[in-house]
This record gives sequence, C-alpha cells and structure tokens, in this order.
Amino acid sequence: MTQQQDALFSLSADQQTLFNEEAMAATATDPAKRVEELRRLIEHHTYLYYAKDAPEISDFAYDSLMRELRELEHQHPELIDPSSPTQRVGGYVGEQFAAVRHEQRMYSLDNAMDLEELDEWLARVQDFFGRMVPVVCELKIDGSSIALTYQDGRLVRAATRGDGTTGEDVTVNMRTVKDVPLRLLPQGMPGIVREGTVEVRGEVYMPKHSFETLNRAAEESGGKVFANPRNAAAGSLRQKDAAVTARRDLSTFLYAIADQTAIAAETQWDMLQWLGEAGFHTNPDICRCTTVEEVHRFCQQALERRGDLPYEIDGVVVKVDSFAQQAAMGYTARAPRWAIAFKFPPEEKTTLLAGITVQVGRTGALTPVAELVPVVVAGSTVARATLHNLDEVHRKDVRVGDTVIVRKAGDVIPEVLGPLPELRPANAQPWQMPAECPSCGSPVIREEGEAKHHCISIECPAQAQERLVHWASRGAMDIDGMGEEIVGRLLETGRVTDVADYYTLDATELSLLDMGRVNKEGEPVRLGEKTAKKLVDNIQASKERPLARVLFGIGMRHVGKTMAEALAAAFPSVELLRNASEEQLAEVDGVGPKIARSVWVFLHTPANVEVLERLELRGVRMADDVPAGDDAGPKPLEGLTFVLTGSLVESGMTRDQAGAQLKALGAKVTGSVSKKTSYVVAGEAAGSKYDKALKLGVPVLDEAQLLKLLETGQLP
Ligand code: AMP
Repeated sequence: MTQQQDALFSLSADQQTLFNEEAMAATATDPAKRVEELRRLIEHHTYLYYAKDAPEISDFAYDSLMRELRELEHQHPELIDPSSPTQRVGGYVGEQFAAVRHEQRMYSLDNAMDLEELDEWLARVQDFFGRMVPVVCELKIDGSSIALTYQDGRLVRAATRGDGTTGEDVTVNMRTVKDVPLRLLPQGMPGIVREGTVEVRGEVYMPKHSFETLNRAAEESGGKVFANPRNAAAGSLRQKDAAVTARRDLSTFLYAIADQTAIAAETQWDMLQWLGEAGFHTNPDICRCTTVEEVHRFCQQALERRGDLPYEIDGVVVKVDSFAQQAAMGYTARAPRWAIAFKFPPEEKTTLLAGITVQVGRTGALTPVAELVPVVVAGSTVARATLHNLDEVHRKDVRVGDTVIVRKAGDVIPEVLGPLPELRPANAQPWQMPAECPSCGSPVIREEGEAKHHCISIECPAQAQERLVHWASRGAMDIDGMGEEIVGRLLETGRVTDVADYYTLDATELSLLDMGRVNKEGEPVRLGEKTAKKLVDNIQASKERPLARVLFGIGMRHVGKTMAEALAAAFPSVELLRNASEEQLAEVDGVGPKIARSVWVFLHTPANVEVLERLELRGVRMADDVPAGDDAGPKPLEGLTFVLTGSLVESGMTRDQAGAQLKALGAKVTGSVSKKTSYVVAGEAAGSKYDKALKLGVPVLDEAQLLKLLETGQLP
C-alpha cells in the first residue's frame, strides 16, 4: 500500500470521499471557491438521489459534504445565499406528479453523528428548560417521508415531502399500500377535536426481504436494481402506473401530525397512541425517557437489534415529548429544535479493491468476486463480495486498484456499490472476464441473452463433484450407492476425476477406500468389501443404460431428461449426435437454436469428447439399438467419412439434406477435412475444404457423382 492509501484507510468513509488535496488547499486559501464547489457537488448528488433514485455516493458521504458546507457558511456568513442547499430541506420536486403545497412545512431533522453530539443536544434541551424534560425515542425508519390527509375520516391525499414546502401528489399510489387506512377507525374519530382535515405524517418503506426479492427479480430480467430499500421505496412510490406500486410490497410507519391542535393529544407519546387507535401502522419500538442514560440505552439496543429488524433503520429520533415544550423550542430554517436524529455509524465503508477473482460454480457458471482489503462494515469484516457477472462489473465500473464503497446492511450480503472515481489510479483498466476457465483452462463461453459466462468443460475440477454425483443419480446412470460422500472421497484421493474413471474402479481397491473418519478404536473407517462389491456391480450394470440416460447424465447445459430423450430418439448414437450440425439439432422437437448451440459446443469441446471416448472404451454403451427394419444389414457406406462443401445447385438439396442421406447409407459426415476423410463432396463455389482435400490427397466427388452414389449406393 502506498503512503497515501495507508493514510486513506485511517480516515472515515466520509472523509475519504472528500479526500482531495487540492480542495483542501483551496479551502484554506479561498473559502468562497470551496463553498461554490461544495454547492455544485451537493446539487449534483441531490439530483441523482431524489430525481433519479440512483445515488452515487453514500448518505454518510453526502451528509458530510453538507456539514462541511454548513460549517463554512457558519464561519463566513457573508457567503450565505438563499439558493444554497443548506437553505432548504433537500429533495427535488419531480415533474410527473402534481405539485402539492404543504400547509405546514415538512421539516427535516438535525443529525447527531455520535453519542457526544446527542449529549450536546440533550444538554441544550436541559439548558432551555432548566431541567431534563421527558423525551420520546423512536426508531429512524429508512424510507421516504409521506403526508396523508384525511377529510372527515377518509384518505383524500397523499404527498411526498419534496423540498419541504412543495411535494408530489402520490395519492393513487399510496392508496395501494396495504397498511394505509382508507378510512380512519371509528375509535380514532373522537380524538379529532377540529372539524375538517387531519394530516398525519410518517415514513413509507420497503421491508428488507421484499427489497431483496425485487432486486433478485430485476437482476434476472435485466431490470433496474435499486441501491437500497429506501431508494426502492421512493422509486416504487413514484410509479406512473400505480399497479406497479401495488406489487412492490410497501409499508408505512406513522409518527407525526401536521397540526398538533387537530387532535386531543398533548404529547408525542399520546399522539402515537392515538395514531395506533385510528388505524395507522405505528412502530412498537418506542420509549418515553426521563434520563440521559435511558436515551443512551435505547440507542444502544436499537443499534444491536438493527440487523434483526425486518426493515432498515438508520438511527434513533429523540423528540421532546410535550407539544407545549416543543412549541417553546421552535424551529430553525430547516429542522425542529425539539428533535434530533442520532445517526448510526455508517453501514458503508470505503476500501481498496485489491483484485477480482473468478469463482467457478458447480454447474460451471463463472462469478467475478471482489477481493477487498478487509474492512469492518456494520460490525463484521468484509473481505470479499460477489460482483455477479461481467455486465455488473462494467455497470458499476469497478476496476482493480479502485477505492470502492462497500455496503453491508444488517443481514444483507456485503455489496460493492461502486468506485470513487477521483481516487482511481491512472493505470486502472476495465476488467474483463478471462477467456479461459481459471479452474481448468477450458474456453469460457457466454450464450446469447445470458448474463453469466460458463465453463463447459467436463473436466473442470470445480464442477467435478456435482457432475460425478449427477452421473450416478437415479434419473441418469442410476449407480446405487454412489452418493456425495463416496464421490467426495474418491475425488479427494484423486482416484476419480471424471465419470469415465468410475469404470476403472475394482472391488478390492474400493473396499480399502479411506472414508476420512476414524472408528471407536481410532482406526480409519474403510468402505468395506460388501459395499465395494455392490457398488462395482452397480457401476458395471450402468454400462447398459439407454442413450438418453448417458446424454442426461453427462450434464450438458439445458439438457434435462426430456430433452435427452428427444435427442436420443432423433440421433440414436453419440456419434450421430456429434456429427449433426447445429441446424439439424435445432430441428429436434423442443430443441431450438439456443439448446442446439449448447449441445453442439459441448460435443465439440475436446475435453468432453475425450471423456466420451474413454467411456466408450470402457464399455459404456453410446448408442441405442435401432429396431431392425426390412433392409437391416450392413450399409453400403459403413466406415466411410464424408465432408460436404459448396452448394448442390443441380439437385437443389441443402448440405444437411445430402448429409442425412449419406448417413442413412451408413456414412459418417463431419465438418472438417483430415487425413481420415474418405471423400469430399464439392458442389459449386467450394472453398477451403476443397483445397485441403487436394492437399491431403482426399478423393473429391462432384454433385453428379454424389447423386449417383445416393441412388445406387455404389462408389465411382
Ligand atoms: P433526514 O432525511 O436524514 O434529514 O432525516 C429526516 C427524516 O427522517 C424525516 O423527514 C423522516 O422522513 C425520517 N424519519 C424516519 N423515522 C422517523 C421518526 N421516527 N421520526 C421522525 N422522522 C423520521
């Protein structure tokens, strides 16, 4: 690590974001310049966050920019400007929904970033009243603010906070949120002391599990993935089609009332009780505290339980309980003086992306994994995080050497959110998927329309266990007794590396197989003679299974049992199947181009061909008996190999059609010319295959000779 990076890791997340020597120098010499720079930066990120639901920096980093600006404006009051981001609540009024003016402003909250700052606020309250007054502690729900207006007990309007003065009308959308009462419960009505409207306020949020389900589905379908549950809630609420909102599983917690004189309650605590009675979803985790210690305890417990809650919280809100005392303390330009948000330490940290490795899954799927300089995030060390697939790496534009933002929220899996581009080393290159499997060196492929790359080599050790177990499974070769444990031992001892090795095992050797355990006497447990003998019998019996079992057992991607049966029916031997073109394969019932491609590639990957050949050599049947017809008997072209090139203009046949006819006469048809080729059939405009035939001295037939051959079965 360089000295600069070293220094970076000793900084907190927000400080790292701001780490910029030039900027720091500018602040010292020219505060006006830095103020302007900060305003621009905040405006940019406010837009990304509120208007696009796609933040690029952590909330913590954002808050920190804001604090720096506020601090500078405080030190240099001459720089304060009404258009500064500090002079409004933050947010952005979108254009797709009607604007709603809030009769009572929707304030933001001042933050306490640690217990010390919380104590400073508590001390201010005590100073104000000359004593500690009761306060209510609530969880700070990490969602989106919402204001619900009820007229004569019926929901008439729902609005977002917007900039605090003007929000957006999201009534249609909010009506779809199941825990929002469309009518107040009768028991709530007596609490309303003023005729007309009552406006309640709170938070709309997305539970963690719904957020994960939503993102998983989006990932599969290539849709938009949200950065966190808060953005998912805000994005879901601002849907033009409310049916989409309805499917998003949003919830609410209500905790405030716009005009406190509208109901009978005189304290925050009583108001929360009233909200519950009136039918609103209120959070049960609240505490009315009369000492500083009680407040601390609530904050500590909330922090500890944070990961277990089914929704995200990002702090604790402490509010002076009495409405009269709240009114006495009043408001600043942006927030009440009578409340404070104690913010939890960030769940996001920055660290160095030391490398990107590729993990090979058991089915050959390749997953890029971020190898991080270990960092403690939300209480646990994070050293690795999945990057899902190549597109995701490019979408996030993370590169080895980048300083990246890592997020871990409670029980949510650690995630790399993205890089801090300003800290990117000059030589950092965009990452590429390796062309060869890191486990076995076979070529890596990516099928059209698929997000994942795959290694399709049968010999890939990372996939070996699964393939071996699958081959022996009941639906495949049905080798009873060959389960995960024995397969694991055979792999570990190196005795078996692929399915063809099963057929070299003998009973004596198997009976001595060390099962990796010891018995009561402390001696290693062996498989034993009886089990070994049975197993070998079962292995031998599997040699006679029908072709479809072999095709299913060998584990070609997309080839399940039914598909294997269809392929075996159309091409009753592995050889025929291997000689079939992609087009011919695609014609088989239910196959189509995608599966045809996968089968063709599998059967033409050298490592796979080699295993199939060894299986055959060891006596596994690679063909079904084709029922003998009238013309059964040796076929005229048996043992001969043909290659077709050029177009057959005279007959108008396609090469596949001609090939099929040659095969019907017992010939083998392959795609490339070698010394083993018996004849090359050259039609019009024959290309390199014709040249190669001449070079190797392989006899060439023209179309007329081919037609004669097909008709008579006689070679010229
Ligand atoms: P911030 O957005 O960080 O300025 O925090 C203020 C926001 O916290 C409010 O606008 C509310 O949307 C939200 N919030 C979440 N839970 C609560 C709560 N229990 N009491 C008050 N505000 C809350």
